[in-house]
Amino acid sequence: MLPPRTPRPSLNGTISADIAVIGAGFAGLSAARRLSQLDPKLKVVIVEAGEIAEGATGRNSGFIIDLPHEVSSEDYSGSDGDERRHDIKVHRLAIALARELATEKGWGKDIFDACGKYNVAMGPQGDKHVVSYAKQLEKIREEYCLLDAKEIASVTGTNSFTSAIYTPGTVIIQPAAYIRGLADSFGDLVKLFENTPALSFERQGTSWRIKTPNGVINAGKIILANNGQAQSFGLFRGVLLHVYTYASMTEAFTPARLGGHRSWAATPAFPMGTTVRRVPGEAGDRILIRSRYTYNPGMQVSDGAIARAGRIHDRKFEARFPMLKGVQMQYRWAGAMALTWNGVPAFGEIEPGIFAAIACNGVGATKATASGIAAAEAALGVDSWLVDVFRGFAAPKRLPPQPFLTIGATANLSVKEWSAGLE
Ligand SMILES: Cc1cc2nc3c(=O)[nH]c(=O)nc-3n(C[C@H](O)[C@H](O)[C@H](O)COP(=O)(O)OP(=O)(O)OC[C@H]3O[C@@H](n4cnc5c(N)ncnc54)[C@H](O)[C@@H]3O)c2cc1C
Repeated sequence: MLPPRTPRPSLNGTISADIAVIGAGFAGLSAARRLSQLDPKLKVVIVEAGEIAEGATGRNSGFIIDLPHEVSSEDYSGSDGDERRHDIKVHRLAIALARELATEKGWGKDIFDACGKYNVAMGPQGDKHVVSYAKQLEKIREEYCLLDAKEIASVTGTNSFTSAIYTPGTVIIQPAAYIRGLADSFGDLVKLFENTPALSFERQGTSWRIKTPNGVINAGKIILANNGQAQSFGLFRGVLLHVYTYASMTEAFTPARLGGHRSWAATPAFPMGTTVRRVPGEAGDRILIRSRYTYNPGMQVSDGAIARAGRIHDRKFEARFPMLKGVQMQYRWAGAMALTWNGVPAFGEIEPGIFAAIACNGVGATKATASGIAAAEAALGVDSWLVDVFRGFAAPKRLPPQPFLTIGATANLSVKEWSAGLE
């Protein structure tokens, strides 16, 4: 939907850097920004295998969420309330980076909108979750507002939602525009090479030698921010779960066909349910539907898998927006996420001079951003509360061996999706 962009040239030849960042998603670009803030003289190189915004970072639903996603979690406001508040502080730090960038760039609401989000229910089960979430938020003194069916209909223009809870802290971004802007925000000392996959790296004396198809980078340190693909270097084997999620977006429709507000964003009452956004534009408005998770250890999905998810999206769309009958989906896509069994990031100095910011467990806009910032601070030896938080996470738990892993992961996702039901 954005105008075309000319990618930065790929790397040809040999260069040197103080720090090389591998991967230009939320994690890698946030790390590079933090590095250049901490030491503007530092020579930083970023290599990106593809082009900016073509990966999951540019193709997500655009929710930078401050409050934990798992609204049904029983322990949310239990005895570990303080720990949860710590999570929220980390999330808000990621939001602060996005806000700082938005101010710097003078972005309008089409790219960065601090509008909060709705958590919507589509039936009695969802309604119960909405109420229980409100109680949990109350206990930790977070702001919220409950909406009945009529009130949420006046926002969304549809009678399909039975209740909702609004929380004001989430920021909604146009992810591709955001990440392009972040990539363009660096001074001359940060060099970005696109279409430049890091193929391997090896120690050479006190530094590291990274090979790319047509070049070499000699770097003092490396920040590994290529998410699940870190496994291609033989790292984190047996701990990363490669899960894909899917989205479809409609063609533009005449705004008058759907009442309510022209811009809103809603996550489902059950975490494994369907995310919906209404996105206004000059040519008309669009609906984005994000739903369906699959386990893909080979880190690829087929066209057939996207088509199957697309049929599910069509049903979800029809159930929510009967008044938009005949509006077709224009775009469909899938994107990779790296999860760990115990939900922790793969973070830290994994070898002398190699810092990982991997596995954001599906909420990368927030968590990968924060882990990139933390990796940058750790690489420069900065002691911060953020680094302490990330260092305090347990190690990622080892996954069961195959074929039990595939059977277990697939069954688990199916059961969770099934229990999300209508939501
Ligand atoms: C449809 C969809 C909707 C989503 N919605 C949301 C949402 O609303 N909110 C949210 O928080 N999260 C959402 N997510 C998840 C989020 O997009 C990811 O968690 C996030 O992109 C992870 O960021 P990352 O920087 O860790 O990794 P990635 O975005 O995967 O970036 C890693 C980068 O590394 C590059 N790379 C890989 N290997 C190499 C190599 N060898 N050399 C150089 N570069 C390499 C890749 O090309 C890629 O650009 C969604 C995901 C999808 C697919």
